[in-house]
Amino acid sequence: MKTARAYVLRGDGYYCPVCNRHFRRFLSGGTERRPHVRCPNCDSLERHRLLWLALQPMIVKSRSLNHKLLHVAPEPCIASALKQQYDYLSVDMDPAKAMQQMDICQIPFPDATFDAIVCNHVLEHIPTDMKALQELYRVLKSSGWASIQVPMVGEHTQEDLSITDPQLRTKLYGQPDHVRQYGRDFQQRLESTGFQVTIIAKSELTAPKTLHTLSLDCESEVWLCRK
Ligand SMILES: [Zn+2]
Repeated sequence: MKTARAYVLRGDGYYCPVCNRHFRRFLSGGTERRPHVRCPNCDSLERHRLLWLALQPMIVKSRSLNHKLLHVAPEPCIASALKQQYDYLSVDMDPAKAMQQMDICQIPFPDATFDAIVCNHVLEHIPTDMKALQELYRVLKSSGWASIQVPMVGEHTQEDLSITDPQLRTKLYGQPDHVRQYGRDFQQRLESTGFQVTIIAKSELTAPKTLHTLSLDCESEVWLCRK
C-alpha cells in the first residue's frame, strides 16, 4: 500500500532526505490537518526530516566505524535509515515496538556504552524524567551525541505530577499520556544533567530555496546534546 502510494506520488517538487526520494507532494497530516506533512514512502514528518539534516555530519563521521546507537521509542522512518549506519539497538517499554524492552530510568548497560542516542518525544511521558536523563548521560560515551527532543510550548515547563486524569492532562499537556508540558527551560534540565546543548536553526541546515522542497514549515530548530 505504502509502496503503491509512494509510486503514484513520485515526481518533482518535494524531497524526503530520510528515504532519499522525490515526490509531487507529501501527504497531509497533523492534529490540525496541514498539507505536505508526511512522506508517502517512509512516513517521515517535518521534525524527522529536519533532524535527519542535522544528524548528517555525525552520521557521515560514524560510517564504517561500527558506532553503537541507542534508539528509544523508535520512529520507524528514521529507524530503518539509522540501522544502515550504526550498530543499532532500539528499545521501548512495549516489547512489541522495539528490539528490546527497556525502562530508560534503569538502563541495563555499563557507563559510556553508546556513541549516539536518539530519544525524541519520550520524556514527556516519564514522571521521573531527570532520572531518565541521568541514565542517558551515563551510558553515552564522552565523545558521543544525543538527540533528546520534547514538544515545547512557551518558556516555562508546566508540571503537576498529582494530575492523572486523562482529560485534564489532555487539556493541560496536550495528550492523555503526557505528564507535563515542557517549555524552553527544558534546556536547563538537560544542562543540569551535564549535557552541552546546541540549538541549530533551520536556516543553518538548508538554503531557503530548499526549505519548500523539504516541507519543514512547522519546525524551526533542532536541539543536539553532547557530553
Ligand atoms: Zn521519506
